[in-house]
Amino acid sequence: MDYLLEVNHLKTYFYGSEKQEIPAVDDVSFKVKQGETLCIVGESGCGKSVTTLSVMKLVQTPPGKYVSGEILFEGKNLLEMSQREIRDLRCKEISMIFQEPMTALNPVHKIGAQIAEALIINEEMDKKAARQKAADLLRMVGVPDPVRCADSYPHQLSGGMRQRAMIAMAFSCNPKLLLADEPTTALDVTVQAQILDLIQKLKEQHGMTVVFVTHDLGIVAEIADRVIVMYAGRVVEEAACDQLFAKPLHPYTSGLLKCIPRIDDTRETLETIEGQVPTPADFPKGCRFHPRCPKAMEICKSIMPEPVDAGGHLVSCHLYSHNDGEKKEQREVQL
Ligand code: SF4
Ligand code: MG
Repeated sequence: MDYLLEVNHLKTYFYGSEKQEIPAVDDVSFKVKQGETLCIVGESGCGKSVTTLSVMKLVQTPPGKYVSGEILFEGKNLLEMSQREIRDLRCKEISMIFQEPMTALNPVHKIGAQIAEALIINEEMDKKAARQKAADLLRMVGVPDPVRCADSYPHQLSGGMRQRAMIAMAFSCNPKLLLADEPTTALDVTVQAQILDLIQKLKEQHGMTVVFVTHDLGIVAEIADRVIVMYAGRVVEEAACDQLFAKPLHPYTSGLLKCIPRIDDTRETLETIEGQVPTPADFPKGCRFHPRCPKAMEICKSIMPEPVDAGGHLVSCHLYSHNDGEKKEQREVQL
């Protein structure tokens, strides 16, 4: 099988009190090959988290709803599976780590007991073997004193240690796919680098596939094989990592890249993208980026651009689409 995960035309919407429709994830498609790291990048509120929660089938329904599309894991559609089948898949096949470890860790149980419990349930280990494996996992993720850590409650650990404990738990069943939603955002830079190294190392050792959500392009450059850029619930660009950095096509991606400070920077102030991500309840017509786009044209205000494939580099922008005669020339030059 070519792809471990295939998301096709996924729409995950939320419904407000007066039947107000909120298209948080709106026709999103992407594929991830076995062993690959895909980064999903974009500002807050672009639908990155809802996309990954959908893959775990963890969106609360209602108010959420998987309106259409499919999520194929090893060829099977997760959206058609029963809750029981999904529960089986979580942890055994797909694990998730979050920005805030307390989302995954239970505050009233000791770390070791929590990891052991996951092993007892999912791997059918006996209690003694599970405790031993829990300590081994904590050692594997670089906890200096695994026995003491196992015997601690989550609140007794530092943020970095809690994050390691959550990763140990996510790895307890050797998942094929790891979904990571901004797992290093709350940590200071040194700990962040250690956690990223750890994920990379574990990925290589276990041949795991990773979907990593971040707003930080520095992280993307370091870990991604492929990248999708999301804006206002949609994928606006998709490319191999080096391709995206060398030649970003979408004005939003270019804007994000200009916001990164560089070591050889002579600029006095960093550039920013004017304005803010619109709220999903109030997405503008046409290209959702048009109110902020320095290259916006008349057509952008009314017609939503469709993705154009330029040899594995996908972009949704009228600058590159065929239905705009005048700009087609520019497209051929640019690609
Ligand atoms: Fe800018 Fe138009 Fe492209 Fe949207 S479609 S990114 S508004 S040029
Ligand atoms: Mg998020």
